[in-house]
Formats: sequence, structure tokens, C-alpha cells
Amino acid sequence: MSIWEKNIRKVVPYVPGEQPNMPGMIKLNTNENPYPPAPGVIKALQEFKADKLRLYPDPTAKLLAYTLADYYNVGKDQVFVGVGSDDVLGMSFLTFFNSGKPILFPDITYSFYDVWAELFSIPFERPKLDHNFRIVKEDYYKKNGGVVIANPNAPTSICEDLDTLRDIIEHNQDCVVIIDEAYVDFGGTSAIRLINEYDNLLVVQTFSKSRSMAGMRIGYAFGNEKLIKALNDVKYSYNSYTLNQTSIILGMEAVKDKGYFEECTSKIIKTRSRVMGELKELGFSFPDSKTNFIFATHESIPAEELYTALREEKIFVRYFKKPRIDNYLRITVGTDDEMDALIKVLKEYIYNKK
Ligand SMILES: *Cc1c(COP(=O)(O)O)cnc(C)c1O
Repeated sequence: MSIWEKNIRKVVPYVPGEQPNMPGMIKLNTNENPYPPAPGVIKALQEFKADKLRLYPDPTAKLLAYTLADYYNVGKDQVFVGVGSDDVLGMSFLTFFNSGKPILFPDITYSFYDVWAELFSIPFERPKLDHNFRIVKEDYYKKNGGVVIANPNAPTSICEDLDTLRDIIEHNQDCVVIIDEAYVDFGGTSAIRLINEYDNLLVVQTFSKSRSMAGMRIGYAFGNEKLIKALNDVKYSYNSYTLNQTSIILGMEAVKDKGYFEECTSKIIKTRSRVMGELKELGFSFPDSKTNFIFATHESIPAEELYTALREEKIFVRYFKKPRIDNYLRITVGTDDEMDALIKVLKEYIYNKK
């Protein structure tokens, strides 16, 4: 191995769900929203003047940041925006976790957290969720360099209540606590209201799931002014222009249409509860989902087998071959028609095995 090769930063990258592209496929593997972005987003994109692209975007992305501040009723200096919540979270790890002490996040959670920790050489520990995939809050009472909790959690779909989060934050006043709320709009309770009580709390959300804009890459965070300033200082030390012109404008349009947003999320919640009933009849069990996916295990057929059987019918769901969760499927809630097709294939497969 040459010397330059020895000096390369070596990382094991995060593996996102695959993005197959086949005619007639049903894609329920990456928790995308099955409905289009708000009509105002589509209109603004059509009317976007491409000649503006010769100019740099506003580095503060203030049209978007202020619209978010307004919508969520927080101060203008309590908002940070980034290129998807992955960018916001990665930047947060880099900014806040420098104590040298291990940061804490559950053994089963979003699989990007350990990748960022490795990338930035942040030590970490992973307290185990209990047998029902619930957080054991006492595990977070020990000395640490920071806490990260996805709430609702992925891939379990479970939402812990605000009292649990509050208790964890109360016990961690000497480090930054990050709550990743990628799925909170599908029935969870947001911790946004706590940012004025705890100056060490950062709440992160995204346009990728509930606002149907995964392809646009917009994420944001709310927190105390000092946290937001620290994030911006790091951002401006790395890349001043993270959000492009279209993200800023289209993101703003998405936030403005509260009615459409609520209509789409409630449709997904309704479909979710119907499909949960049908899956139960087929012999599946799952935690109560507060997300746009169902984390299901079958009473007799291994998850990997069902995953393969669905794939053969061009229905893509997510399967994680990992300890404790390797008998579960993570199924994104799609349209009613897509879910009918899923249930039909599952029903036939399970029936033919009997
Ligand atoms: C989807 C997801 C994200 C990242 O979403 P972006 O598309 O980068 O905004 C972050 N955290 C969790 C738990 C997610 O499921």
C-alpha cells in the first residue's frame, strides 16, 4: 500500500435504501411520501426563471428560514436550514460533540448516527432498547458527550412521550441533546415547544417525508440562538451556499400550504391504520406506528423470505439483516392502491404456504 493510501480517511459509508426504477414497481422501501408536493411548489418550479441561476443563492436562505420560524412560532434566530436533515444532523455532530466523551444513541435507530460518529472520530455507546423497542431512560443518566434520539424512532416506528424526553434532557444539562423528528408529522408529539426551556436541545426535522420533497433535499433544526449560531459558524467554515435557489423558494411554498400538508399526512395516517388491521389478520404484529411506515413481523414466515417474495412481484420494502430486527419488514405507507396490491401479494403468498 502506498503512503498516500495509508493516509486516506477510511469510512464504512451509510447505505441508503435502493432506488430501483422499473415500470409497474411499487416502492415502499425508503419512506417517501406517495403524494406529490403542494400545488404551490409545482407552480413555483414551473415559473422559476432559469436565468437567475447565474447568481449565488442567499447564503442565509432567509426566505425559507423565516417562513419556518413563522410557521412553527419560534424566533428567526432559532432556525437552521440544511440540505436534508442528513446535512443538518451531520453538521450538528461535527459542531456539538467535541467533549471526547462518548455520545449515546439507542442500539436500534437510524443507521446514519454511527457513521457520522465514526467519520468525525466521536466515541459512542448504544444503550439497548427494551424488548418492546422502548427507550430505557435511565440508560441516559450516565456521563456522556451528547445524546441523539430519533422520535418517532426508525425503523421501529415508536414515539416516546414528551415526559420521557424531558426526563432525559433534564438528566443531560451538560451536553447537547438532539431529537431527530423526521417522522413526527405522522401522529407524534414534537419537542419544539421545549427549545425555550432547554438551551441545549436541538430539534431536527425534514421536508423529505411529510412534505413530499425527498428529492429536493431540505432539512431544518430549531434550538436556542447559541446552538443555531454555532451551527451556522461551522456551516460557513465549510460551505456557505448549502441550499440552492430552488430549494429555498420551493421549500417556502411547501411550508405555506398548511391545508395540503395536513390533508396528505392525515390520508397517510388513515391508510396506515387500515393496513395495520389487514396485516394483523394475515398474522403480522408490529408496534403502534406514529410514522409513515409499519415495522412488521410475521408469526410463522421469516421476514427475509417475505421480502424476497415481494421483490419478485416488484414490491420493494426494506429489510435489515441486523441483530434483533432481522425478522422484521419496514413497510412504507403508500397510496391506498399500492397498499391493496401489497396486501394481495402477501395474502396469496401466506395462503399458498398453508
Ligand atoms: C429519512 C430520515 C432522515 C433524513 O432525511 P433527509 O432526507 O436527509 O432529510 C433523518 N433521520 C431519520 C430518522 C430518517 O428516517
